[in-house]
Amino acid sequence: MTQGNGTAPVTIVGGSATGLFAAERLARAGRPVTLLEGAGDWSPEPRTLIVTRRMRDLLGPVGDRAVVNTISRFELLTDGRQATVLLSEPDLIIERAVLVPGLAELAQGAGVDLRLGSRVRSLTATDDGVTLEVRRDGSTEELNATTVVGADGTFSLVAGAAGWPPLATVPLIQAIVKLPPDLTPDTTRVWFQPDDTPYFYWLIPESAEKGALGLIGEDGPETRRCLERFLEQHSLEPLEFQAARIPCYTQWVPPHRRMGGADIFLVGDAAAHVKVTTIGGIVTGFRGALGVADTILHGRTSGALNRLKRELDWHRLLRRSLDRFNENDYGLLLDVLNPGAKGVLSRLTRDEPARVMLRLCLAQPRLILLALRTLLVSAPRPTLPS
Ligand SMILES: Cc1cc2nc3c(=O)[nH]c(=O)nc-3n(C[C@H](O)[C@H](O)[C@H](O)COP(=O)(O)OP(=O)(O)OC[C@H]3O[C@@H](n4cnc5c(N)ncnc54)[C@H](O)[C@@H]3O)c2cc1C
Repeated sequence: MTQGNGTAPVTIVGGSATGLFAAERLARAGRPVTLLEGAGDWSPEPRTLIVTRRMRDLLGPVGDRAVVNTISRFELLTDGRQATVLLSEPDLIIERAVLVPGLAELAQGAGVDLRLGSRVRSLTATDDGVTLEVRRDGSTEELNATTVVGADGTFSLVAGAAGWPPLATVPLIQAIVKLPPDLTPDTTRVWFQPDDTPYFYWLIPESAEKGALGLIGEDGPETRRCLERFLEQHSLEPLEFQAARIPCYTQWVPPHRRMGGADIFLVGDAAAHVKVTTIGGIVTGFRGALGVADTILHGRTSGALNRLKRELDWHRLLRRSLDRFNENDYGLLLDVLNPGAKGVLSRLTRDEPARVMLRLCLAQPRLILLALRTLLVSAPRPTLPS
């Protein structure tokens, strides 16, 4: 990596959550920043997202403005069993269509040159940097850059051009539904049905009237069929659908590479900074963006990236175990959640997996046996048919 040069300009490709956050950080620290966003305005399609309170610490008031609801209870269900976890501090439900314009406003206030309707078509290495070919208003222009941040999502063009391998992805689909009468708006319901998905179904209230019911699967059409069947079984009418492929974190890949004479970085979904237990990418995406911004500013790998790596690795370990859970294992898991274990889940968030796992095992040692048995003894579940 080139040593931190206090004034060198930075070009960011992609202006959604993580690109705008990184742009604002860099601009506030005095860097000239140009951000290229392919869309023509700051109105991304609505997306209901659940995040931990950690988002508040990272974003402050701009994050608060995007909060549409709060969650203080989780109801966990599997095969006729149920457990309830009360959160000591609520999870936040945020609306991306509110968050992104708020972050754009902040970035603009920090002096970022925001260019909407600017789609990057290619990156070409040159001796003293890279050249970006940008399509804007029906014409093509070329921009030279020495530091580029790819915040352009799962199928990142920047990553491909700089030689990062393509990411493993999983389909996520959710339907916005009217809340069933037996669900209060402060409660998220989670169903573990490993015959349908190694992840889970969720119903997350976004208001007193509506919620997002969805699942992550392995195969796109089968995931959609599972959702439709589930909606029918629970007599829920879909009002609209939200879907995309989400990157899976399979191993830590350093988010920095040299290309020609330029430093190239990745943040957010482009870098697969996603928790593979829940496939949540917002908080980890912001933390990666913070780490990359620090790295650019100081010319050496930020400790924030090392901490993020450790955390994502813990999620991966947990996922390996969960991938082997059958319905009996989930039943056992809910049965052994004693008050001590529930207390741990109440106080700590899924953004601190190492502490959660350690404290859970202390509170309920049977969980160690369950995890070890699934990791060491159970066969991996067969991949769902496509
Ligand atoms: C339905 C759904 C529900 C989800 N729920 C949750 C949740 O509850 N909690 C959670 O934490 N996470 C959730 N996620 C994941 C989360 O939304 C993502 O991890 C996060 O939005 C990633 O943000 P990003 O900025 O990295 O990428 P993106 O949001 O994908 O943004 C990429 C941006 O780059 C732009 N772009 C792409 N290519 C180019 C180009 N060539 N030139 C210029 N611009 C370009 C795009 O227009 C876009 O604005 C969910 C995802 C989906 C699909």
